[in-house]
Amino acid sequence: MQGAFAEHVRALEAVGAKTRLVKTEGDLEALDGIVLPGGESTTMTMLMERVGLLEPLRNAIAGGLPTLATCAGMIVLAREVTDGMEDQRGMGLLDISVRRNGYGRQVDSFEASLHLAGLNGKTFPGVFIRSPLVESTGTTEVVATHDGRAVAVRQGQILALCFHPELTNDRRLHQEFVRMASSE
Ligand code: GLN
Repeated sequence: MQGAFAEHVRALEAVGAKTRLVKTEGDLEALDGIVLPGGESTTMTMLMERVGLLEPLRNAIAGGLPTLATCAGMIVLAREVTDGMEDQRGMGLLDISVRRNGYGRQVDSFEASLHLAGLNGKTFPGVFIRSPLVESTGTTEVVATHDGRAVAVRQGQILALCFHPELTNDRRLHQEFVRMASSE
């Protein structure tokens, strides 16, 4: 609907996946996986509600559709959102509590080298832009932390990141997601 989707398309195609932009309920049909990009979670949720995509998308993800969520996408899925717009609520599909813009405003965007479980000890370049701060991780599996806070979590078929792998040239996480989606 909005946000950094073109960069995800590029990254997914670079690792051999076919992509489709999802703008209506019909676009959800026969997908192997979906990416909820970074952008503005409030705008995304509002647009999805307006075109009747929110509920079908929620049902698809709740039904096990493999999902990669980055930044705003993570907020859209969360169980609890603090510092959001008035009545901003997550879909409640990911058992985390996030503070919107919890690392500070645009000027506080930063990069950090992250250790991700499953990347054989090699680091991943984390690009953070007005990222949500994960305040509690509930029953999710923590895949990476930064300064003692979770920045990547996994719950079933959902992989959610506070940072933006699509804005780097490192395709390992997109590759991992494509593997996740094609083994379903
Ligand atoms: N601050 C944004 C939001 O609340 C997320 C920022 C991002 O996706 N880079 O939706």
